[in-house]
Parts: sequence; structure tokens; C-alpha cells
Amino acid sequence: MSSPTVENVVIIGTGCAGLTAAIYTARANLSPLVLEGAQPGGQLTTTSEVENFPGFPEGVDGFQLMDNLRQQATKFGTRFEQALVTAVDFTAMPRKLICAERTILARTVIIATGASPRMTGVPGERELFGGKGVTTCATCDGSFYRQMEVAVIGGGDSAAEEALFLTRFASKIYLVHRRGELRASKIMADRAVAHPKIQPTWDSVPLEVVGVKEGAVSGLKIKHLKTGAESTLPVKGVFVAIGHVPNTAPFASALDVDDNGYFKPSAGSQVKTKVPGVYVAGDCADHVYRQAITAAGMGCQAAIEAERWLAEHEG
Ligand code: NAP
Repeated sequence: MSSPTVENVVIIGTGCAGLTAAIYTARANLSPLVLEGAQPGGQLTTTSEVENFPGFPEGVDGFQLMDNLRQQATKFGTRFEQALVTAVDFTAMPRKLICAERTILARTVIIATGASPRMTGVPGERELFGGKGVTTCATCDGSFYRQMEVAVIGGGDSAAEEALFLTRFASKIYLVHRRGELRASKIMADRAVAHPKIQPTWDSVPLEVVGVKEGAVSGLKIKHLKTGAESTLPVKGVFVAIGHVPNTAPFASALDVDDNGYFKPSAGSQVKTKVPGVYVAGDCADHVYRQAITAAGMGCQAAIEAERWLAEHEG
């Protein structure tokens, strides 16, 4: 009986971090296997124009950028496979990645699973998510709300960006934020607050997405935190933009994670973990910078560490 294949490098995730790690390890002739999860291309595929990725003075479409990275990785011999890792065994060598259909064996592993949008948890949000009026992606769904009123929940760069994008379609955007000022970068916050279609709705939290019985959003019930007054915004769409949750659950018992679930790399490194040959990269291990370029940088670091580890443990 032939022994099962042991991969040199398995990269979990196809966002900026994962694909950059793939480009580097593929160019090092390691023939990396990339496992593709539920959102191929990661979070950038749900954004519109990326204006701050170096090398694109006119900006670049997020989906296009990810497609470019994928082509670049493929050109040097990266292999892609759709597989969701549900558990791992890092106690022995080779490392085991347990997926629904099979168990993958690897000498080194780069975990670049990113983060997923956080939801508010108010009644109606889950029931009306996806095609019924609640969404986390203005780029994907904004055009469905032409000449309609919508709400964006959140006060960070994502919320400001979603609200600004929606001005192309919606007649009015309520920007519902729990405090009296945005935490978004000044340039984005100023643009959002100054836009005539955007109405900041300060000091307010959502209580309920209205419309479950009808199967479509017909309003967003909110509460003013200072007055306690409750009201219902007459919106047909609710865009939730309140941050992210790292996708680290299948690995959390094998590696160190912080209170919010983000990977905690070993001291002195951004990408090394306590398990030799296992590295983390991108938003699953970074709650501070969370940029495409920093994720790509971590993917590069992880790839170089994996290469070095393999060279030191040849045979
Ligand atoms: P974020 O900066 O963490 O902001 C989350 C926002 O949601 C905050 O305003 C927060 O309120 C609010 N919030 C959190 N939980 C809430 C809840 N349960 N109910 C109501 N509101 C809640 O997340 P982000 O906007 O997704 O940005 C993440 C990172 O990506 C940031 O570093 C950001 O700069 C970056 N980013 C950059 C760009 C760009 O440069 N084009 C675009 C998008 C994101 P508080 O303010 O009260 O905490």
C-alpha cells in the first residue's frame, strides 16, 4: 500500500495573506497546496475600489486584485483545492488537517483564514439576512437599493465606506452609530458626514430589523442611548458594518488565541506559533492593522519561515 501524500506546505485561505504565501512558496519550488474556503479571494472581493494598495496609482478593483494574485500564484505551480478544515492535530509530524472529505498531511502549515463580518444579533437580523434586506456587503448588494432608503450600522472605516458606496444607488443612507463621532479615519469620516445623502444617526443602537413576517426588511427599529427614545427608520436595506470575528475556531485549541479569538503569535514574531512549522498570517492574527498590504506582508513572512523550516528539516 502506498503511503499517503505529505504536502510540503498547506496554506489555508485565499485572501491577501494566503495568496501571497502561495506566490512565495510556489516560487521556492515547494508546490504549495492552497485550501479554499467559503469565500474565495477573501474580504477584498467584497470591497469596491482599493485606493491604498501600493503600485496602483489609479486604484484597483478588489476582486481584480485578488484574481491577479491568484493568477500569479498559479503561474508558479500553486495547487488549489476546495476544503474546509474542521479540526487539526498538531501533536505529531506530519501535521494533520481534518476536512469533511479527507485528512490532509503537511510538513508545514500556513493559516490565513481571515476574519468574518460581526453581526449585531438583534431580532430580525439573522432571519432577513441574505437576499431579504440584511447584508454585510454594499458592493455586492448596493445596486438592489436604487432610490430606496437604507441604514448602515457602525462607525468605523467599513461603515463610512459602505455608506459612501451606497450613495451611488440609495436615495438616503442613515449611518447608525452608537457614539457621537465616527472612529473611521478622518478623510473617510469627513467625506461620509459631509455627503448630502448620508444622515448620521448618532448615539443610537439597533433594536430590531422589522419585516420578518413579510420576509423583507421594512424598517430598522433603533434606540437613542441618551434620551432612551425609540423610533423606526423607514429603510428597505440594512448594511451591518461593525467589524469582524477571526476565523480561528478549528485551530483555537491547538494554538494560542487572545480573548477575542485572534491568533497570538510567539514573542518576537508576527507569524510563528508555538508549534514548529505552523504559521499564521493576515487578519486571523492581526486586529490592529487589518490592511490588505499588511496581510500580504504577513503572508510573505510566513512563507519565508516555512521555506527555512523545510530547509532545516530536510529529509
Ligand atoms: P472597526 O474599526 O472595528 O469599527 C467597528 C465599528 O462598529 C465601531 O464604530 C464600533 O463602535 C461599532 N460596533 C462594534 N460592535 C458594535 C455593536 N455590537 N453594535 C453597534 N456598533 C458596534 O471595524 P471596521 O470599520 O470593519 O474596520 C476594521 C479595520 O479595517 C480598521 O483598521 C479600518 O481602518 C480598516 N478598514 C480600512 C478601509 C480603508 O482604508 N479603505 C476600509 C475598511 C476598513 P465604536 O466606535 O463605539 O467602537
